[in-house]
Amino acid sequence: MAAPSKDLVVGSNNPDKLREIARMLKGCGFRVRPIGDFPGHPDPEETGRTFLANAKLKARAFARHTGRLAISDDSGLMVPALNGRPGVFSARFAGPRCDYADNCRKVLRLLKGKKGASRRATFVSVVAIYDGKKYVGAVRGECPGRITDSMRGKNGFGYDPVFVPAGLSKTFAELSPAAKNRVSHRGRALAAAKKALVRYRAGGYCTRP
Ligand code: IMP
Repeated sequence: MAAPSKDLVVGSNNPDKLREIARMLKGCGFRVRPIGDFPGHPDPEETGRTFLANAKLKARAFARHTGRLAISDDSGLMVPALNGRPGVFSARFAGPRCDYADNCRKVLRLLKGKKGASRRATFVSVVAIYDGKKYVGAVRGECPGRITDSMRGKNGFGYDPVFVPAGLSKTFAELSPAAKNRVSHRGRALAAAKKALVRYRAGGYCTRP
């Protein structure tokens, strides 16, 4: 019988997210491989109404395609004053062909004139893990903070220039990647995912969220 694969497929086509995920999973005991390494891989539509549903449908599709252990993150920004938007629609909030700056401008426009608690926001990341056809588990990370009055900083991606994490005064885009990962939603979810992966590798056991 062939030795079990030690690969961990990371199911994201977003190079910015892939970079962050690969950096944070160092030391998890698996060889991290982007889904792009597997030709003909599916590109599942994110039809779920929750981050968990989308993370699961992506991880499941990639694990089935590769026959390997796969993880996928679904993430976004939730602004209570906008009824939780952009939420699961974060990537295309400003329209089908929008870019990161369009999305940031839309959030700033919708919050124009709002002060204090109305500018509160939370970044959410849910990471789901499948092994072949088997659902292993999922973990969630959150980062509370607030929306700025204007875009600041050049690092990161997405809504980073308009988000200041709680307890800090710089936006995610003004922080170094390491400083962002220490407090970010994805950093927190991946720290939990890393522990779950280590447990899974040791005994096939992994807690559910
Ligand atoms: P997903 O690929 O469907 O998970 O889309 C996530 C979208 O949420 C991204 O395109 C960004 O707009 C936003 N997002 C998620 N995580 C972050 C982050 O760490 N910083 C800034 N924006 C993020």
